[in-house]
Amino acid sequence: MLKISCLLTVKDLPIMIFRSALVFSLLLSLVACGRSEEPSGPELVVYSSRIEQLIKPIFDQYTAETGVNIRYVTDSAGPLLARLRAEGENTPADILVTVDVGNLWQAAQQGLLAAQTSSVLNNNVPESLRDPEGRWTGLSIRARTIVYSSERVKPEALSSYEALAEPQWAGRLCLRTAKKVYNQSLVATMISADGAENTERVLAAWVDNLAVPPFSSDNKVIEAIAAGQCDVGIVNTYYLARMKADDPSLPVDLFWANQTGEAPFNRGVHVNISGAGVTAASKQKALAMSLLEWLSEADAQHAFAELNQEFPVNRNTPPSSLLQHWGDFKADQVPVVEAGRLQAEAIRMMDRVGYR
Ligand code: FE
Repeated sequence: MLKISCLLTVKDLPIMIFRSALVFSLLLSLVACGRSEEPSGPELVVYSSRIEQLIKPIFDQYTAETGVNIRYVTDSAGPLLARLRAEGENTPADILVTVDVGNLWQAAQQGLLAAQTSSVLNNNVPESLRDPEGRWTGLSIRARTIVYSSERVKPEALSSYEALAEPQWAGRLCLRTAKKVYNQSLVATMISADGAENTERVLAAWVDNLAVPPFSSDNKVIEAIAAGQCDVGIVNTYYLARMKADDPSLPVDLFWANQTGEAPFNRGVHVNISGAGVTAASKQKALAMSLLEWLSEADAQHAFAELNQEFPVNRNTPPSSLLQHWGDFKADQVPVVEAGRLQAEAIRMMDRVGYR
């Protein structure tokens, strides 16, 4: 061998370099393989429609406390549900985390979530924010309420979602698209409280009152009010919280809808959840459930809710100081599962009245 290598000429040098590079990279990959085969302790796989920056800090804390690693895949709810369906029994996912009960309800209907009982969850999460069959639980509360121009609207003029159908709001209302599950869930709970006929009348009048066609996001609704395109709208509070944090002088304020007046208009603000469930195909359901239980405890609740300026589901955890500034509100007590159950009817109704 030595003899042969001594006989090498300059012409052979590129081949030599190529061969050493090959050997080197082979060695590297062997080292890498060795590493990935090392036992690394328990691991949970989470499919999440919440973006990484909203879940990573809290999952890192869980790993630090328990030694359980968490690997996550983030995408929108639709693609994650499709992926779970396609992977079936072979999915690596142990937990689905998503926002809006409409999405959790869909996942449960499609058989993607396992029915679980947990006394910890029963204790920490109000019944109205959990699936009656134990397939998902709320982890934070999001309130969807009325916002208004602090320059052109007196809050005394506001009362309920339904009252935005009145002629005084003609050409002054901004809404987000009916395609967004947030609005489908809101309308579903209106059907539950007001009945189908009354809700359809309200929706038709909302459409008549629109200043501009529905927007693609809650942020755009708030921006349009600030810019004077319209005077009132309906958004999730955390969007306004974030924008107010960036610009405290933003001339848009929040009004807690449906607090007073006669039933059913005094039922409280529409609340929805971000939540999670253990997947039906998880091979480690007990470990997966212990993560959900940990997330429902007071400390984790504080961090989980604060990351997105949402409200904790656990009554023993106070909301962030920014949210406390908006004061207490009465929340609609209708079980959130109703929003899922009536989702299809809400979508058909919005379509009928031309709310796109
Ligand atoms: Fe959102």
